[in-house]
Formats: sequence, C-alpha cells, structure tokens
Amino acid sequence: MNNYLPQPVRYVGRFAPSPTGPLHFGSLVAALASYFDARSNKGTWLVRMEDLDPPREPPGTDELILEQLHALGLEWDGEVLYQSNRLEVYSATLKRLKATGLCFACDCTRPRIKSIGGIYDGRCRNRKLPFSAGLATRVKTDNSLHEFEDAIQGSYSQTLEQDTGDFTLLRKDGLFAYQLAVVVDDADQGISHVVRGYDLLESTPRQIYLQKLLGFMTPQYAHVPVIVNEQGQKLSKQHFADAIEVKAASKVLHNAMRYLGLRPANSQISEPPAELLAWGIDNWDIQTVPKLANIQMHSAH
Ligand code: GLU
Repeated sequence: MNNYLPQPVRYVGRFAPSPTGPLHFGSLVAALASYFDARSNKGTWLVRMEDLDPPREPPGTDELILEQLHALGLEWDGEVLYQSNRLEVYSATLKRLKATGLCFACDCTRPRIKSIGGIYDGRCRNRKLPFSAGLATRVKTDNSLHEFEDAIQGSYSQTLEQDTGDFTLLRKDGLFAYQLAVVVDDADQGISHVVRGYDLLESTPRQIYLQKLLGFMTPQYAHVPVIVNEQGQKLSKQHFADAIEVKAASKVLHNAMRYLGLRPANSQISEPPAELLAWGIDNWDIQTVPKLANIQMHSAH
C-alpha cells in the first residue's frame, strides 16, 4: 500500500510577460525555456499578463503577444490571467502584510535613493508616516541570509537589508509593485516551477521573503541567460529589439532553442513549428542550459 507516500508535486509553470512591447527574441527565449520545462515534465503551462503599469503598456500589446505565442505554436493551458483584474487580491494581501507590523509608509524620492547608491537606507522606517495616497509602502528587511538553489545557476543568496534594502510593495503612484503581485499570483495559480530570465534572479530572494511572510510555498526557480545585443544591453523595446517575425516561426524557434543548450539539426529549420517544439520537449534537459547571466545574440538573428 502506498497510500501514505507523499503525492508528487504537480508541475505548474508559467510565462509572465509585461505587455510593454511585442515579444522579441530575448523574451521568446525565456518563454520557450518555461514552455519546454513544463511540457517535458508533463506539466501545465500558464500565461499571465503582468499589466500593472498602464502608462508603459501600448493598448493591444497583450493581444499581440498572445498572437505571437500562438503563431509560434506555444499553446498555453486555460485562460490568461490579467494582473489588472486582481487589484483587490493584491490590496487584501497588502493588508495582511501590514498586519505583520513590518510595513511602513515612505516619502523618499527616487533621486534621493539614487544619490545614496540605489539601495534604500531605511530612512522612513520609524517615522510612522500615515499610509496615505502619494506615499509608497515598503516592507522592512533584515540581514539574515536568504539562500536558494537555482536549477540552472546553482546556489544564490542575498542579505536583503544590505543588498536590496526595504523594498516597495505599493508605489507612490498607487500602483502595486511587481514583487508583491508576482508572489501573490504565483501562489494563487499554484506555480511549482518558475523558469525566467537571469535579470530576475536578484528579485528572487525578495519574493521568497514575501512568500515566507505570507505562508506561501516557494516554487523551484530556474533562471536562463538573458539575450543581449552587441553592446551588451538586454534586448528590449528601449534598445530597439525587433519584434519577432512569426512568419518565419520555425527559423526563429530553431535559433532560440540553440541559446538554451538544444542542438536541433540544421535540416530541422524546414520542419513545421509543432514538430520542432515536439523535438525540443523530447530533448529538453535543464542541466544543459548555459550557466550564464547573458549570451550575446549573433548578428544574423
Ligand atoms: N513580467 C516580468 C517581465 O516581463 C516577468 C516576471 C516573472 O517572470 O517573474 O520581465
């Protein structure tokens, strides 16, 4: 009888784009990594639109991203979750965090924080400012070591007070901060595995800290290399990364797979996307993803 054995954790992965611009080659590599990892583990793969910052989101970009994913053959499970529909949940969670006594209101300006080196120094911790409109809400950090094992990058740790400082949960402009929303949604969606770009590695200890304060499970994390241009900049709308050409879906997928340690044969470029993806799922091995912060994109892409 094995009734008493623990049940294996069900794999639930996700891709969580911010709709600030269409998918470019760098975001495709991250999407593909989470897709392959989920599908090769017979898991669920969800898409979540992180649309919490309307001024940075050109209307229709969410639709465009979904069309691109679809055209590339990256089919997700279930409904797409929009963070903009979840403000009440974030608000209720913020209330719970405030009840721990660890939150405080803060009127510090960005230039001031920049002038002290970018890491918040706790100036408003004990000022007891009211939680009122126009002030940010931060959570106190401490100097205990927050360490986790990344499935690609290995052990990573931070002491938050020193490395990030007390961080924002609610911004001055009234928008919920990414760190809060991502933790709430990963928990509510039952995400067991987070596979995303290396640029978010340094956010992970903050997210694990919030999970602990809220009594949430911590997923398994894996951070894949970020694709950078010849100047070493992350591909992004600001750096004029081209939106990917979905008409050449197989070529784009073939290229992207090669940055993740997969070695499809040259001849596979002519396969339909679904076949190429099926090959990728069969051959996926997270251990062969390069253990690098970033990889420079070859100019031919
Ligand atoms: N929305 C974030 C981004 O596009 C990703 C969040 C995450 O994967 O945790 O950079």
